[in-house]
Amino acid sequence: MKKEPFVTQEQLQEIVKKYPTPFHLYDEKGIRANALALKKAFSWNKGFKEYFAVKATPNPFLINILKECGCGCDCSSKTELMLADALHFDGKDIMFSSNTTPAEEFQYADDIGAIINLDDFTHIDFLEKTIGHIPETISCRYNPGGVFKISNSIMDNPGDAKYGFTEEQLFEGFRLLKEKGAKYFGIHAFLASNTVTNEYYPTLAKTLFELAVRLKEETGADIRFINLSGGIGIPYRQEEEPNDIYVIGEGVRKVYEEVMVPAGMSDVAIYTELGRFMMGPYGCLVTTAIHEKHTYKEYIGCDACAVNLMRPAMYGAYHHITVMGKDNRVCDHKYDITGSLCENNDKFAIDRMLPKIDIGDLLVIHDTGAHGFSMGYNYNGKLKSAEILLKEDGSAQLIRRAETPEDYFATFDCFDILKDLRSTND
Ligand SMILES: *Cc1c(COP(=O)(O)O)cnc(C)c1O
Repeated sequence: MKKEPFVTQEQLQEIVKKYPTPFHLYDEKGIRANALALKKAFSWNKGFKEYFAVKATPNPFLINILKECGCGCDCSSKTELMLADALHFDGKDIMFSSNTTPAEEFQYADDIGAIINLDDFTHIDFLEKTIGHIPETISCRYNPGGVFKISNSIMDNPGDAKYGFTEEQLFEGFRLLKEKGAKYFGIHAFLASNTVTNEYYPTLAKTLFELAVRLKEETGADIRFINLSGGIGIPYRQEEEPNDIYVIGEGVRKVYEEVMVPAGMSDVAIYTELGRFMMGPYGCLVTTAIHEKHTYKEYIGCDACAVNLMRPAMYGAYHHITVMGKDNRVCDHKYDITGSLCENNDKFAIDRMLPKIDIGDLLVIHDTGAHGFSMGYNYNGKLKSAEILLKEDGSAQLIRRAETPEDYFATFDCFDILKDLRSTND
């Protein structure tokens, strides 16, 4: 499917007059429509809820849009929990799916009433010692080990992943938690990332539903929800076929009716913790071409770098690029599109065929709405960009300002040398 930016060239030219590039831009209309489609696709399940994976896009304005669409949030750390709490999410609408969890984070999660999703058997004791009790509602993360396959093709390798309880530990864990006072149980698993197939959720659901039935039979646990977690992917490449959330919802419904309903478990809620699927396509990184370089290859240097979007440098991930205003021209130039880090993997694209780029052209790097800005860092003293929301009425709202040198230096405040430097400069 041809990738078109969700913003027009005219809109973008207006925005850059006010906010200099680079910045991440988000599409409110797209976010809302997608969130509502997800809700509709799972509306057959009475308790369905999406807990948005905050780590994908930890911006309160964007999370608030999802909140308005009925989503909760899934947090992986204390600061993410603080963000959820600041947005007045109810405790039951906050999932805390962490791993290698520090004691104070469990304590904080319990203080705000979040649902705790344990990553490990030993965390049962750790949690009890930390917060002084076992919560009434508790969830455990499952790792089946081995490889995860969908009709003979290997999707991922859970046996090598650090997450979750083994099957044996899960049965033992449910018994132990029950003994210690847990009343309501959840099961969670995340077995493959960025899946571009409608089969992932139904396959995972079948595994978890069958497990839930056995857990209920053998431990007597009152299972209230099954959390299919994240992993529904998006087509980063034009030639990829996007997932159809209605087909996915229907696939999960079929398995639910086959496995859960006959076991008398037709009141169990389905939860999801999607990140990429909720936001990925509805964000883009806008950057300006500021240099061209002709050596052994043709380079276009832009004002964004891997600090703003790490996925290409880190995973060799593909992100589609549109040269604004030139989308209908032939792609007869082969470029490496680079950032300014002293790091040769700081390239948004390698050997990419694009229309001829001129200095000053605006480039839109697609699908940066999830795991984009949030993975940013400050290498080379580079500062994080602004985030801007393209609202439904077409206007632009700054939803996070760009970092300034003061932000960069803020954590040195305790050192006298900085004060000395300041007074010398004054
Ligand atoms: C990262 C993560 C998610 C979201 O994953 P996506 O691939 O963005 O859907 C959900 N749950 C947990 C526990 C995660 O770590």
